[in-house]
Amino acid sequence: MDFRLDEDILLLKENIRQFIEEEIEPYSMQIEEDDHIPESIIKLSKEIGLFGLSIPEQYGGLGIGMVGKCALYEEIGKTHNGYTTLIGAHTGIGTVGIVEMGNEMQKQKYLPDMASGNKIGAFALTEPAAGSHATNLKMTAVKRGDKYILNGTKHYITNADVADIFTVMAVTDKGKGAKGITSFIVEKGFPGFQIGSIERKMGLRGSHSAELVFEDCEVPVENVLGEVGKGYVNALKILANGRAGLAARNLGSCQYLLDLSIHYATEREQFDVPIIDHQAVSHMIAEMAMEIEALRSFTYRVAWMVDQKAKIIKEAAMLKLYGSEVYNRVADRAVQIHGGMGYMKDYPVERFYRDARITRIYEGTSEIQKNIITGQLKKNYQK
Ligand SMILES: Cc1cc2nc3c(=O)[nH]c(=O)nc-3n(C[C@H](O)[C@H](O)[C@H](O)COP(=O)(O)OP(=O)(O)OC[C@H]3O[C@@H](n4cnc5c(N)ncnc54)[C@H](O)[C@@H]3O)c2cc1C
Repeated sequence: MDFRLDEDILLLKENIRQFIEEEIEPYSMQIEEDDHIPESIIKLSKEIGLFGLSIPEQYGGLGIGMVGKCALYEEIGKTHNGYTTLIGAHTGIGTVGIVEMGNEMQKQKYLPDMASGNKIGAFALTEPAAGSHATNLKMTAVKRGDKYILNGTKHYITNADVADIFTVMAVTDKGKGAKGITSFIVEKGFPGFQIGSIERKMGLRGSHSAELVFEDCEVPVENVLGEVGKGYVNALKILANGRAGLAARNLGSCQYLLDLSIHYATEREQFDVPIIDHQAVSHMIAEMAMEIEALRSFTYRVAWMVDQKAKIIKEAAMLKLYGSEVYNRVADRAVQIHGGMGYMKDYPVERFYRDARITRIYEGTSEIQKNIITGQLKKNYQK
């Protein structure tokens, strides 16, 4: 395994670090207050090429492998998680389907605009009756001539309000269960497709999740993504890739919280010594550092597996589970180390603590990751 990064990735990582420090961090409080990411940040993200993180060079993207992508995600994870989620959902679950399963015509039509950030991507699997039970979709797609007619509702869809291109899963053959699901590329302006209400959330301010409403929505047959009946398999592959990316972003958030905690514990004195000299505090820091290092090794190992085209369903589930749980433990300890300050909105740890919570839920809950892991282990055992 080789996790060394090319010179150009190292340079990009440094540019992102500088961009975050100078252009995003000063606006973190404002993003929190306004629940909106300033246009200046989006514009600069486009200029750096961040929207094309997952897209091959021939379609205008950065054309980097998963190890490189995770190194950049780690950097992006160090800032406001609303921004991190917007970029992560677009470059992860919002784009990967077209890159991996799209035909040449679809790639040429959609990817260049997605790479430049002129068009934003979103991924729509979840429905009110199909959360963890993702094959229980009620949304239908019926073929009529050269179109599919989509009817149903999706909810909690990240980027819905700003997205132009949606990867949407719907039932094309009701009697076939998971094998009766097909994925489609749906454009914002397609007749019969509307964005419904935007959810009010605990955190991730600036990143919005909304309902999608399909009423006799007309989707051309050429917008079927991959094969008919392979929509669920496609969703699993997209999610596996997305989960590895999410772990890398969680890793960045953890590192940021550790750095803040070391700084605070070194500066803050109680009982006439820096609190880092109290063993209880120093042990919390040691545990945070150890778990972060383990997460880092695991993240890059799975990223390397993706680059080797290995099957990662089990490893991605383990990594998603571990990364989310570590992020929650690290955020909890960071608040504890900061004492009362950690509970105050004037200081970023409070925000990261709230934002960490979603990572145990979206892109598949921690419980579902455990089900996937055991399911895969059982399969291997039976062989
Ligand atoms: C902010 C946010 C953004 C999101 N973005 C997207 C998006 O972009 N695209 C998209 O498609 N979806 C998105 N989702 C949906 C997300 O993936 C689901 O919320 C998640 O998969 C859980 O589904 P659910 O909310 O219906 O919970 P449920 O499935 O109802 O689960 C409730 C609880 O029961 C547990 N549970 C359920 N079944 C089992 C089981 N078999 N074994 C053990 N425990 C079980 C769950 O783990 C959980 O603890 C988003 C959600 C949120 C909150």
